[in-house]
Amino acid sequence: MTGDLEVRLRGPGAYGLARKAIEQMERYGVWPTALNFEIWMHFVADPEGALAREVARLLTSGEAFTDRVTDELAALYLPKARLNEQIRDAGDQLSRELTSVSQAIRAAQKSSEAYGETLATASESLGGQADVAELRQTVETLAVATRRIQRENKSLEKRLAESSSEVTKLREHLEQVRRDATTDGLTNLANRKAFDEELDRACSEADSKGEVLTLAVIDIDHFKNFNDTWGHQTGDQVIRYVASVIGRVGAPPRFAARYGGEEFAMIFPQETADAATAMLEEIREEVASRMLKRRSTNEDLGTITVSAGLAERRPGEAAHAIMERADAALYASKRGGRNRVTKADSVANAA
Ligand code: GH3
Ligand code: MG
Ligand code: MG
Repeated sequence: MTGDLEVRLRGPGAYGLARKAIEQMERYGVWPTALNFEIWMHFVADPEGALAREVARLLTSGEAFTDRVTDELAALYLPKARLNEQIRDAGDQLSRELTSVSQAIRAAQKSSEAYGETLATASESLGGQADVAELRQTVETLAVATRRIQRENKSLEKRLAESSSEVTKLREHLEQVRRDATTDGLTNLANRKAFDEELDRACSEADSKGEVLTLAVIDIDHFKNFNDTWGHQTGDQVIRYVASVIGRVGAPPRFAARYGGEEFAMIFPQETADAATAMLEEIREEVASRMLKRRSTNEDLGTITVSAGLAERRPGEAAHAIMERADAALYASKRGGRNRVTKADSVANAA
């Protein structure tokens, strides 16, 4: 969320915006769920923003605002704001923790200075001609001061140990937040946002090392039919199954993601399109040869197939450009009868 938008959503005009959001939701027949409301608040508060443009596009296309559509909008446009909030909270907590620890350290420094002074004074009085009584007094003073500093050191140690476990907890929490924000909930593969970031990163790395990289997109064939026949939940299980096959091949240093509904994307760093094609053929064959069964009833679901398109990156080529070529290759696989893998170059040659 931009600072500006945040001000509008948290400012005095927010109630007016809320009324407008609800009006619009009613007008377009959108249920007043919390998530819908959040989306429509963004829509009215920032009509030029990416979220509003997507909502406007959906409105013109006449597509219904089902829960699925809402979830997708939220996943694409809202989690970042929530993520930022969580990171901010964790940051606040961390800075409170650090302030309190540095106070404890400062206090410990003071006591250790005081202890140093006690020692100096004692050594002075020992330097003179001390009688036994004076000596005993000095030793007694030292013993008391030593016990005190030992106590204080112990309590500082305890404080530091607490703090380090607090910081560990915070780090784990942030790590979890980061994982949630970059992982697809259904398949546990990376999500589209994580993929886009990784592709940018991989492209820069390929440039700096002068290496090749191949991008692949994979889409389940006739999946709408499958859903219509067997239901959405069984469809979800099939998406998870295909994801597991893709995830195995896409293990690091490769990268695999669920790019959208029944579509996946993979990055093959340092691999040519020919090498990646062999991997995609393995995926394609494994999926096509698997007899699917419905878990709950053991009912036979037949088989499904996937189509893939891949493009080897040209030196310096932008992420979106290579993605477009891979998409065009996927489209060629679909047109060519599905259940096949197509390289971008062969599309260009054929055209
Ligand atoms: P094609 O071979 O051309 O790819 O045909 P298709 O039917 O797979 O393609 P289309 O894009 O027309 O439909 C994709 C379908 O995938 C629509 C929807 O039913 C289904 N789908 C998308 N996301 C999900 C999901 O998360 N779960 C389930 N079960 N189905 C999904
Ligand atoms: Mg499909
Ligand atoms: Mg598709």
